Amino acid sequence: MKAEIIAVGSELLMGETQDTNSGWLAVRMPEVGLDLHTVTIVGDDLAQLTEVVQRAWGRSDFVFTIGGLGPTLDDLTRDAIASTLGEPMSEDPELVRWLEENFARRGVGRMPRQNLRQTLVIPSAEAIRNDMGTAPSWWARRDGKTVVTLPGPPGELMHMWTAEIAPRLKKAVTGSVILTRTFKTIGLSEAAVDEMCAHLYDAEGMDFGCYAKPDGIYLRAVARAPGEEVALRTLAAAEREARQILGAHLWGVDEETPQGRVGELLRERGYRLGVLESLTGGLVSGAITETPGASEYFAGSVVVYSNEAKIAAGVPADTIRQFGAVSAETAEAMANAARNAFSAECGIGVTGVAGPDPQPGEDAAPGTVFIASACPGGVDVQKHVFPPRRPLVRGRAVAMALLQLAHELQKAGVEAE
Ligand code: ATP
Repeated sequence: MKAEIIAVGSELLMGETQDTNSGWLAVRMPEVGLDLHTVTIVGDDLAQLTEVVQRAWGRSDFVFTIGGLGPTLDDLTRDAIASTLGEPMSEDPELVRWLEENFARRGVGRMPRQNLRQTLVIPSAEAIRNDMGTAPSWWARRDGKTVVTLPGPPGELMHMWTAEIAPRLKKAVTGSVILTRTFKTIGLSEAAVDEMCAHLYDAEGMDFGCYAKPDGIYLRAVARAPGEEVALRTLAAAEREARQILGAHLWGVDEETPQGRVGELLRERGYRLGVLESLTGGLVSGAITETPGASEYFAGSVVVYSNEAKIAAGVPADTIRQFGAVSAETAEAMANAARNAFSAECGIGVTGVAGPDPQPGEDAAPGTVFIASACPGGVDVQKHVFPPRRPLVRGRAVAMALLQLAHELQKAGVEAE
């Protein structure tokens, strides 16, 4: 069934606030069997908002509005929906009581009369109370179509969706089920993944999309089927094939992260990891320690920003003098030094120039990063040149460092089998 999202708010239109809610909702639409086809941002203007709601109501089975449910006169989402459906709004006495209690419970004084706007409903709408705020949602259903109003604050929206809306949608949405699975790869270009997996695209009821992310190339499979069981079977078949084709390049599926994957592989093999990082300034170890229980396989890390610090941590001064601090040789020496410093089986060394400007006395161009990963099977060193934007370079370096080690560990495992 066709769905569309309308994000309401002049602050979104003017770019003061990023519309993060639509993206959050968009990835959840297939899970409830909805086919999202349009996202619109519209300001707090009744005429424009009504026009957008009317268009959406005319062409979609489910319309989700975000925001504009506050108590003030520029919160106009309810008015636009009432006008589209041609229904009058009236105060719901139950909601009035609930909202008054809500104010009393929070000890914020008497409820301003203005808040009564939030207790307005139309005959076709059922009000769903908001445990985290003052704006109830509407679930309005007429002529086989549904419009749902969601609160703007992201925490409220996520809670409302998860606790109330998604369970209702799972019952209300009929027709085909849409399920997705994302295969995450490293070490291959977008074109290579596309070419290698092209024959999967012919499978009936499947759609594929290939796109680049900081941690590699993702291949997203979308299965449409009359029921969940068939969709799951189709995805399982696609995953079997994808694993066969992509081999050690496939490092994760769906919610898996580089740090989670590295942790799993280290734990499986009983290895420990030490890290020496320069341009990432501790971000690699920050990512690794996000996973609970990381102490089982993560020995420790040293941030070796200056040459003196690198030398003190065990990198030969000669290597730095001869090849430079940003070089394959120094990265390799850092990975080995990390292993020695922590008596660990595995080591990571990351050095580079984050940019945006060239560094005095440094030959490497801004955005150049050398990553070395050392395992019992050997040391692998890779050079990357990222667009020289500091946060991007550092973020990519973290993902690549973790995935490079995961790739080495996985490869070693495959070869040993
Ligand atoms: P409230 O009752 O709290 O006023 P509301 O449902 O009326 O909530 P808005 O007033 O439109 O929501 O937005 C409240 C805040 O939520 C905004 O200031 C903004 O910070 C955030 N917000 C609104 N829409 C979005 C969006 N699409 N993406 C991210 N944040 C949003």
